[in-house]
Amino acid sequence: MSITNPATSTASPFQQRSLQTVWHPCTQMKAHETFPLVPIVRGEGVWLYDADGNGYLDAIGSWWVNLFGHTNPKINAAIKDQLDKIEHVMLAGFTHEPVIELSERLKAITPGNLGHCFYASDGASATEIALKMSFHYWQLAGKTGKTQFVSLQNDYHGETLGSLSVTDVAIFKKTYAPLLRPCTHVMTPDWRYANEGETAENYALRAAAALEEHLAKHHAETAALIIEPLIQGAMGMGMYHPVYLERAREICDQYQVHLIADEIAVGFGRTGTMFACNQANMTPDFLCLAKGLSGGYLPLSVVLTTDTVYQQFYDDSSAHAFLHSHTHTGNALACRAALAVLDIFERGNVLETNRTKAKYLNDAAVALSAHPKVRDFRNCGMIWAFEVDTEIEQFSQKFFQAGLKQKLLLRPLGKTVYFMPPYIITEEEIDLLINGTLHILDTL
Ligand SMILES: *Cc1c(COP(=O)(O)O)cnc(C)c1O
Repeated sequence: MSITNPATSTASPFQQRSLQTVWHPCTQMKAHETFPLVPIVRGEGVWLYDADGNGYLDAIGSWWVNLFGHTNPKINAAIKDQLDKIEHVMLAGFTHEPVIELSERLKAITPGNLGHCFYASDGASATEIALKMSFHYWQLAGKTGKTQFVSLQNDYHGETLGSLSVTDVAIFKKTYAPLLRPCTHVMTPDWRYANEGETAENYALRAAAALEEHLAKHHAETAALIIEPLIQGAMGMGMYHPVYLERAREICDQYQVHLIADEIAVGFGRTGTMFACNQANMTPDFLCLAKGLSGGYLPLSVVLTTDTVYQQFYDDSSAHAFLHSHTHTGNALACRAALAVLDIFERGNVLETNRTKAKYLNDAAVALSAHPKVRDFRNCGMIWAFEVDTEIEQFSQKFFQAGLKQKLLLRPLGKTVYFMPPYIITEEEIDLLINGTLHILDTL
């Protein structure tokens, strides 16, 4: 049976086919009656091209995953080379060179003594793994009362039931509340909530005091604190001072609570350092990585943990093992893409080049940050965000549509506009991004 709805009357045949069978993510499908889908046929660098040959600058890295551009020659070559060797083999009872090399290299570049790598395919699965591992660790350690998790107010950790339980974003969570585990969301360190005259650092310290107060009372039943380090992405790119990470580590140590760092969005250089935790010299008990791990090419995620956690599971009994699996765990093609990404970081002075680009963008954005409709213009590493003062309904959709006319892919979170471009963006492309954004603000 084919579905006919008004959307299909104005849509091109390409768009019609998608609307009839593809249920798009995070989308009210009826909205496509008014807002057409953008059919993409190819990509190159920061550019995506539609079926008519129009280019769009991918200013949000295709949902925060793309680091080095679309169809990057080095990543393409690595995947093609791997394709003729072995595309995938189950990781239970088998192993292969790409997954070994990737684990060794992640161990070498991540903070402290992290070095046991458990793989999955997407970010939410990584969050689930970290939560289950932490809980199971405490069970094995005889602390069977530790069954609860704590996260930050406004945190996002994915949308499967376990990860949604520790997420605090109402639009994703409200409907499913009866299905979720209770979770305490302690005060966010996001400086947008600071009192007037209070520094970001003092506000972060005040939030840390709230965490301490909670754990002082509830550490006996708390397995782990899970946080988005430095940037709370989904709730409008809230940014906070690294001192919070430092204090959170001390407090978790003091009360014997695991610290799970969800660097799914911010890992691999987004905050200016390879990992956000580096800025506080902090080693979590679990580090979740995904998104940029494969350069945004293929679904791949990993949880790194410590010897202490690993040893707790190491036993003659299989009941003591971490009996968790995802079918595509350690996929060889995805691991090769990730190795190519690490090669680019090692050989390309990426973090240094990014600092120069960030400075260029901040200089170019002076008029934007001073625009009368713009509030709280902020930057951390290769992420920029600002609030737009507007009463326009469906602002995000309309901004997105106006962006396309300026050759820009921008998808505001509510009234927060943000840039999270691939690191290969050029100065010319930055100018286009800033001027296009200004134009949208002036004309919308
Ligand atoms: C995107 C994201 C996730 C979920 O990853 P998926 O691959 O979409 O499941 C979890 N945590 C953070 C911080 C994220 O940004």
